[in-house]
Amino acid sequence: MATYDFAAPRLFVDAALAEGADIALDSAQGNYLRNVLRLGAGDTVLAFNGRDGEWRARIAAPDRRRAALAIGERLRPQTPPGDLWYLFAPLKHARLDYMVQKAVEMGASRLVPVLTRRTQVSRVNLERMRANAIEAAEQCGILSLPDIVAPAPLEQVVRAWPEGRRLVFCDEGAPVGDAMAVLRALSGQPTAVLIGPEGGFDPAERVLLGALPGTVAISLGPRVLRADTAAVAALALVQAACGDWTG
Ligand code: SAH
Repeated sequence: MATYDFAAPRLFVDAALAEGADIALDSAQGNYLRNVLRLGAGDTVLAFNGRDGEWRARIAAPDRRRAALAIGERLRPQTPPGDLWYLFAPLKHARLDYMVQKAVEMGASRLVPVLTRRTQVSRVNLERMRANAIEAAEQCGILSLPDIVAPAPLEQVVRAWPEGRRLVFCDEGAPVGDAMAVLRALSGQPTAVLIGPEGGFDPAERVLLGALPGTVAISLGPRVLRADTAAVAALALVQAACGDWTG
């Protein structure tokens, strides 16, 4: 991977980044720099916005109310985002936070909450998902934020499925097999991964997913994993077999 300065904290900003720009930070970001990172005027952070690459920035005169960044030189150009969709039945609070963070670390480029028959959560806080995505990107040197889409029923997502995108359906009911071999065959094709809710998939959903061209059902082994563990396991398998871990 590209080397970069792990020692400097990274900060996501919305504003355009260019050498010499001064960027006012909102109070939450000022508070984060001062009280969480314990940084003050003159300290260095790395700024990125998902569009313009990564820039060295100096904290300018933060007072109790305001903080700003003075943008220096660009350290890394923007790289094209990956292309791996992550579909998941939303979980409650802390476990959803974890799942979103891990999915971003693992390279998901689009987060798609799907409401399945046994999904217990009906409202999803998209702002909170975005905050978790930003936190993971900041901590892991990631330059692009994933797209985050509004939750939709599984049937609707399947009906609107884009032609050509393969769907890796992680089915706790599938027979254990050589998932790596199945996934290697997907190399070079746009791919999505689907993880179900704590209650698992309903038989009618298996029929629906089975009828979608390009779906492959895989087992994640002989043990039932919790959904957040399954997320990391499945994304690791996909990245290793046919994704950006293959080089
Ligand atoms: N409670 C259900 C399992 C749900 S686990 C049961 O007991 O059957 C939540 C989700 O994680 C599942 O819907 C599936 O997408 C994924 N998952 C967990 N373990 C898995 C496994 N061994 N193989 C494939 N997918 C698995």
